[in-house]
Amino acid sequence: MTAQQHDRVAYPAARVGTRTWRWFLLGGIPVVIAGILLGPAAQEAVYAAFGAAAAVAVVAGIRAHRPARTLPWWLLAAGMACGALSNLAWSAALVLGGPPAGLNVINAVYYGMYLLVAAALAVLAGPGRSSALAGAAEAGIVACTAAVLAWVFLIDPVLRSRDAITGGFALVYPVLDLILLTMAVRLAVAAASLTRTHLLMLFGTGVLVLADVGYVLWVAAGGPWSGSGGSAACWMLFYLLVGAAALHPAMATDRGAAPIGGYLRSPRLTTAAKALIVLVGPAATAYAFWRDLHRQDFDLLDITVPLGAAAATGVLLVLRLSHTSTLVNRRATDLQAALDDQAALQEQMTHLALHDALTGLPNRLHLDRLVQAALSTGDAGCLLMVDLDGFQHVNDSFGHPTGDALLTEAARRLREVIGRAGTLARFGGDEFAVLLHDGDCLAAEPHARAILRTLRQPVEVDGQRLHVTASIGMRDLATAADSAEVLSDADLALYAAKAAGKDRVIAYDVTLRENQLKRIAVVDRLRGAIGTDAIQVYYQPIVSFSTGRFTAVEALVRWVPPGEATIGPDAFIPAAEDSGLIVPLGEQVLRQACRDAAVWYRRYGTLLTVNVSPRQLSEADFAARVMRALHDADLPAAALILEITEGVLVGAGAQAEQSIAHLSELRRFGVQVAVDDFGTGYSSLAYLRDLPIDILKIDRSFMPDEATGDPAQQVALVRTIVDLAHTLRLTAVAEGVETMEQTAVLQTLGCDKGQGFHYGRPAPAAKTADVLAEGVTAPAAR
Ligand code: C2E
Ligand code: CA
Ligand code: CA
Repeated sequence: MTAQQHDRVAYPAARVGTRTWRWFLLGGIPVVIAGILLGPAAQEAVYAAFGAAAAVAVVAGIRAHRPARTLPWWLLAAGMACGALSNLAWSAALVLGGPPAGLNVINAVYYGMYLLVAAALAVLAGPGRSSALAGAAEAGIVACTAAVLAWVFLIDPVLRSRDAITGGFALVYPVLDLILLTMAVRLAVAAASLTRTHLLMLFGTGVLVLADVGYVLWVAAGGPWSGSGGSAACWMLFYLLVGAAALHPAMATDRGAAPIGGYLRSPRLTTAAKALIVLVGPAATAYAFWRDLHRQDFDLLDITVPLGAAAATGVLLVLRLSHTSTLVNRRATDLQAALDDQAALQEQMTHLALHDALTGLPNRLHLDRLVQAALSTGDAGCLLMVDLDGFQHVNDSFGHPTGDALLTEAARRLREVIGRAGTLARFGGDEFAVLLHDGDCLAAEPHARAILRTLRQPVEVDGQRLHVTASIGMRDLATAADSAEVLSDADLALYAAKAAGKDRVIAYDVTLRENQLKRIAVVDRLRGAIGTDAIQVYYQPIVSFSTGRFTAVEALVRWVPPGEATIGPDAFIPAAEDSGLIVPLGEQVLRQACRDAAVWYRRYGTLLTVNVSPRQLSEADFAARVMRALHDADLPAAALILEITEGVLVGAGAQAEQSIAHLSELRRFGVQVAVDDFGTGYSSLAYLRDLPIDILKIDRSFMPDEATGDPAQQVALVRTIVDLAHTLRLTAVAEGVETMEQTAVLQTLGCDKGQGFHYGRPAPAAKTADVLAEGVTAPAAR
């Protein structure tokens, strides 16, 4: 059971409701009125009852409201108990007749009440240091002024004239009241906010002081020592107010002292109060001076006491003001520090919003603004969009930390190359942009070439030598309407640079935009053509050098829109890849080719080889689709070869893994795998050993050709590839064989097979069937 639960069980809060304090107060008023009419002994008994009720109310308040600090309330309860006890003793003494035996003890207990209440007020006002100081000064000022008034109007004229004993005894009350008043003022000044509870307490204190002053004046004027009816009412009211204060729910919301004293709360009111207080002392002193001179009752003490108190008031005022100004200065310093912090934060956030976290370079938003600014001033300039080629591969194979290191290094090199000629930005991923400030894109060409050159240098990361290149698209600022146009045109040029084979720079011109629109139109039309007869499959024979016979045919797609010329794959395959249309298109070709080839395989043993795009291999059910096509066409798996490009298999990404899984599965059924266009891709030979492949198709750019290069060197290169294939137990197929001479060279190099216009161009199925039926041997073997 927690302490709180224990409390709840022991003292149900229901007994003290939110309105109990009001009932307590209202219920007490008739008793107060009745009490005035009673004789002294009964009156003292009623005082005692009020004191006891107040003590009980305070304890009930503590238990019901559970304030954070209970000390002031226990002090208050003790004070109330002291009051009740001494009142009871007085009552008993009066009933018995004459002053009680232990008079001094009973009086001491009664004075104890004042001190306990004063202590309670002091604790309630604490403990904030700066406001405690303010409260003390404030209280001192009030105490001094009250002392002047007490001296001038009470002590000097009334009490000093009485006999020493009564005078000394009656003097105690003003002193105690002065202490109480001081603590009340201190609370009023120092409390963070004055709650109802505080107000009831302050009001109660005021009532008590009023009762005492009235009593002293009454007794001094010769009244009976039990006091006037007014004093009696006030004493009872005091108990009621203290009890109500403790019963009020606000007693739980004890917020302690305010960080700055009350003077800052209501400046106009406090200024007026200060002025009044400053005037009261001298005015009262002047009055006392005049009065005593008039009565010829003047002695030095009459002027020393009020003047001393007035001087002390002045000193305290000065202290209070200097304290306030210190606080204000401190607060101003704090405020300035806070403003500085805020400004720094603002700057930091602006920086974050406009810069890339990894490289610290300006980001897209920042560059966008710079381009916009350059456009608005009409300055010349050229925007370069720089994208790393093969970055995804590095990220997939070596992990993101390596990728990040590569990007950081790329950024460093770019910064070095560009220098002051322009602004470098990172657009996220492996995309950078450079805004060159002077000249148009023609003038920017040397910069672009320098960028390509520096990025082509290998990067060392953790002992890895990474090779990347970059593609660049450029756009002139001069002819653009806004920065969005500049960015999207540069993007388009970049796309063109990638499509043209990467590691190059292309400047934007309108034809790029036209081509893009055409591409979009192509995709639209192609979507309609897929699944219809407009998609046809042509076949190109592949010749075995050992037998001189056609051993296989490669399926090559053609698009024949009704009434239009045949469209070659180069015109629509890239768009099909981009749009994903290659998946249904590739499947259509595969199924058609399997059906056509099934007959040829049965009759002549001719194999079928089909091109597969990376997009198809990343489909989860690719292998299953191939098996279904074979099954539906009744073509054995051993009759099929799939051609893939090198990039599909390289890298550690999920996509490569998926592709390898598909191919491995298909190979278990007898399907063979050929690497198409070998030599144009990654040229990383290490991967060949571990991958599920059977055939290398040597790209046609390697074919020895007098017109395009040094034949001896080209022959050496082909020899190397053929030897490599054989070392790895792979079949070597030469592509693009166009001449008799090339055939001869390939045969002497030991190349296994050849494909090219020299043996036959791609042709429709019917024509291919005829060619195969003729059983012609390849031209070379004739
Ligand atoms: P590829 O796989 O390298 O196909 C060989 C290409 O070289 C064919 O072009 C063929 O006509 C051409 N060719 C054959 N012999 C010679 C020659 O002696 N000299 C020259 N200069 N060229 C020769 P095609 O049919 O225009 O196909 C172009 C490319 O389109 C193919 O290159 C292939 O990558 C792609 N492709 C064709 N059909 C498909 C398909 O069904 N699916 C996929 N994914 N790609 C296909
Ligand atoms: Ca091919
Ligand atoms: Ca090829």
